[in-house]
Amino acid sequence: MAKERMLKFVALGREMPVKRPAEDRAHDFHEIYAEYAAAKAEEQASRCSQCGVPYCQSHCPLQNNIPDWLRLTAQGRLQEAYEVSQATNTFPEICGRICPQDRLCEGNCVIEQSGHGTVTIGSVEKYITDTAWEKGWVKPAAPAVERSESVGIIGAGPGGLAAADMLRRAGVQVTVYDRYDRAGGLMTYGIPGFKLEKDIVMRRNQQLEAGGVTFRTNCDVGVNISFAEIRAAHDAVIIATGVYKSRDLGGPGSGAQGIERAIDYLTASNRKSFGDAVEDFDSGRLNAEGKRVVVIGGGDTAMDCVRTAIRQGATSVKCLYRRDRANMPGSQREVQNAEEEGVVFEWLSAPKGFTDKGGKVSGVMVQKMRLGKPDATGRQAPEVIEGADYVEEADLVIKALGFEPEDLPALWDEPALTVTRWGTVRAEFTSGKTDLPGVYAVGDIVRGASLVVWAIRDGRDCAAAILREMAGDAVLAAE
Ligand code: FAD
Ligand code: SF4
Ligand code: SF4
Repeated sequence: MAKERMLKFVALGREMPVKRPAEDRAHDFHEIYAEYAAAKAEEQASRCSQCGVPYCQSHCPLQNNIPDWLRLTAQGRLQEAYEVSQATNTFPEICGRICPQDRLCEGNCVIEQSGHGTVTIGSVEKYITDTAWEKGWVKPAAPAVERSESVGIIGAGPGGLAAADMLRRAGVQVTVYDRYDRAGGLMTYGIPGFKLEKDIVMRRNQQLEAGGVTFRTNCDVGVNISFAEIRAAHDAVIIATGVYKSRDLGGPGSGAQGIERAIDYLTASNRKSFGDAVEDFDSGRLNAEGKRVVVIGGGDTAMDCVRTAIRQGATSVKCLYRRDRANMPGSQREVQNAEEEGVVFEWLSAPKGFTDKGGKVSGVMVQKMRLGKPDATGRQAPEVIEGADYVEEADLVIKALGFEPEDLPALWDEPALTVTRWGTVRAEFTSGKTDLPGVYAVGDIVRGASLVVWAIRDGRDCAAAILREMAGDAVLAAE
């Protein structure tokens, strides 16, 4: 190993790719970080100390071989770095952009713990695969042998697509069904372009298609085709439908016009970025332009909503969250980006109801909170401060309170599909096997709202399990 090229963290500081200034980026939906130049990527990769026990790797849901691809990058051996990186990750350039690295790989980098600033793992991963795309190293599936078995995948998000890619590369016939008109799931219609530009997702969709994956879009399972029909058409079925039922808010005035669900708001905005005609946006309903916007929630979806509203030209954007900054579920990096762009956070503030003028929302009735004693989980529960209520004026209120699974057994008329008490599909974690023979499930519909990287992990694990089963069947048939 060319050690002399590594271990540079003492002399070399951590440097992220250049971030566009807030006043520039707040007007468009382009990504906010530039790409590393080659020399900078090599330099930053060379900061890695090549740990014998790499905690970065064990805290990456895909167990990516991070030290190896950092070393290869530092040595300028980019194609090999790409080969190592893509061996464990179906979409490395996407994870490099949107994984919460501070909680996963980078948050566990040992040089961070010795006070030198973590290796910029995500940015190097993105650089490697963006370069691989540029150079034409990223190839569609070209299986050596076509297999007769077919797998139907319901849901074209990262979970379904990761499984599709792996199965197709092994020669399996794969059909992906999705109720939307474009594949990609929340990568396409949930996550805004300033975190993940849409052409990055579309080129993956096109490549899957070029590799022989059949997409049946605009196909809502349970409406346009039954679950039973899909089971009958394929040797195995993977459920990868994600979670889309928005948690709601009651209280006085909660039915007023101008109180919207985050998923509708973000989907409309993403559709506009594709150039689609979106009636509810064009009518102004889901457009924040010229409005005082209040977003309720403290997770990453809320962060995406506030930053979208800024870009649409809202006159003010406030985020209400019932706990404080230290106890919010969203990434601190995203809060900082939002604050730089002009978002104001009202911590320890919970909605109690809404005021309206002629049926249109005019404000959020806010209760001020304090954090009480820690509960059994150690988390401090918010308590109301009596007499401190006020009204936060608003023309558009966006509810970003999290997502729950839809009732699949009822929607699909399949009571034997077992779900947990949270409504998620019950499935074995290592294979995705459900209680129905030949039916698997992956991603958010199993885990509840989670992360792209976990959906990819599930999709890959599930595809591997299906391939093992197929290999076992082939052995039995030969006996
Ligand atoms: P999804 O991506 O939800 O895809 C499911 C697909 O199934 C969809 O295309 C849907 O149309 C389809 N479908 C559902 N029901 C049916 C049906 N009946 N018939 C046909 N098709 C159906 N994660 C990160 O790692 N980083 C982030 O920065 C990040 N930001 C996020 C921002 C927002 C606003 C949201 C909502 C989520 C974010 N996440 C982020 C979470 C991440 O997007 C999800 O964890 C991930 O997409 C889950 O993948 P999935 O494949 O399980 O489901
Ligand atoms: Fe880090 Fe995510 Fe890449 Fe794993 S996939 S190395 S967690 S950025
Ligand atoms: Fe390199 Fe940090 Fe991983 Fe160690 S923990 S191998 S220093 S990236």
